[in-house]
Amino acid sequence: MIDQATVEKIYAAANIVEVIGDFVQLRKKGVNYQSCCPFHNEKTPSFVVSPSKGLFKCFGCGKGGNAVTFVMEHENMTYPEALKYVARKYGIEVRERELTPEEAQRNDDRESMMVVSHYAADWFTSQMFDTDEGKSVALGYFRGRGFTEATIRKFGLGYCPAQGEAFTQAALATKKSSSQARG
Ligand SMILES: [Zn+2]
Repeated sequence: MIDQATVEKIYAAANIVEVIGDFVQLRKKGVNYQSCCPFHNEKTPSFVVSPSKGLFKCFGCGKGGNAVTFVMEHENMTYPEALKYVARKYGIEVRERELTPEEAQRNDDRESMMVVSHYAADWFTSQMFDTDEGKSVALGYFRGRGFTEATIRKFGLGYCPAQGEAFTQAALATKKSSSQARG
């Protein structure tokens, strides 16, 4: 794990215009910089970098973040990899330390929760789009409220079936079949 003092040094050194400028041709516009977005296809620039805030934001696709998260997304790196990349760029020595057993356990728990919540989000979405009950009750409701399918998918809206145990049963069945496949 990269130690906290190193992380702070990296953030303090990272100039977002320089970091993003290594990947994207930025043009100065007023106090900000802009370009066509590297994350979606476009002909007119809606990707804006603010040096004073240290943030980027695309007004086309909604992607935004800081210098480190830009490198993560653009180069498909993990958070520690992106931190190390920026550290290298600015000649910062990266100090790492072993996780304590408590920290390792906490990371494991957090990862498990992420897996569960992604699974849940996918499941509730498919309940809405792929079942008759979901289509008539939830999808009909959202469409009636004027939500397009793109909006519904973007915000990960879903449907929880009237049968309250359905999610738990599906999750347990998936867990069982994936551990069987592994074993
Ligand atoms: Zn974009």
